[in-house]
Amino acid sequence: MGVAGPVVSKAVVHFLGNRAVEYRPGRKLTRVDAVGKRLYFDTGEEATFDVAAVVPPHTAPEAVRRSPLAGPDGWIVMDPATCETRFANVFAIGDVTTVSLPMGKPLPKAGSFAHAQAEVVARTLVARLRGRGTEQRFDGHGECFVEVGGGVAGFARGNFYAEPTPQVRMYRAGRHWHAAKLAFERNWWKTWF
Ligand SMILES: Cc1cc2nc3c(=O)[nH]c(=O)nc-3n(C[C@H](O)[C@H](O)[C@H](O)COP(=O)(O)OP(=O)(O)OC[C@H]3O[C@@H](n4cnc5c(N)ncnc54)[C@H](O)[C@@H]3O)c2cc1C
Repeated sequence: MGVAGPVVSKAVVHFLGNRAVEYRPGRKLTRVDAVGKRLYFDTGEEATFDVAAVVPPHTAPEAVRRSPLAGPDGWIVMDPATCETRFANVFAIGDVTTVSLPMGKPLPKAGSFAHAQAEVVARTLVARLRGRGTEQRFDGHGECFVEVGGGVAGFARGNFYAEPTPQVRMYRAGRHWHAAKLAFERNWWKTWF
């Protein structure tokens, strides 16, 4: 969680260490030998695996990449606060967008932000359609639970738009955060589906 700063990142690495999960940052996977069960890295290192969970390069959908909404790297560039694109009355939210933070990294792609942005845009659209009311702005606040297993979770929350670096706090892991996550999920399910 580099974007959340060194304190939060250290806490996440600590969670891994507690579970005897080796953490090897700063290398890119270049090849997977599924038969021989080997991983090859750009550093020349190799590793074996039982189960590999590999995240492929993250790209915007082709329809977006080809559209005039796409920025130089294929994601949609919008105003970080209003979510309006360079086309008036056209908004974009969530994973398909990119927001450059003052610290140089992009805003993480997270449901927490997509949700907050959706509410901002919905309220702005209503205000514009009605011709009254206040247009909303997304302020960069977000949070996420960090499951660490055994019915225990941590919780990180903060302002990702803070300057010069995001101000994110990781709360001490405990059973209550796991319970809070379950309650959050139940509430979402009940509210939206
Ligand atoms: C394993 C995993 C764990 C995660 N954990 C968390 C977490 O703990 N907390 C958190 O906040 N976030 C988490 N996220 C991130 C979160 O899921 C995303 O940020 C969020 O779903 C983004 O919502 P979205 O609506 O922008 O995009 P999506 O949920 O990806 O929705 C985009 C939709 O568009 C559809 N689509 C794509 N191309 C086209 C097309 N050409 N035409 C029509 N439809 C199209 C897709 O099928 C999809 O249904 C996690 C993501 C993953 C993968």
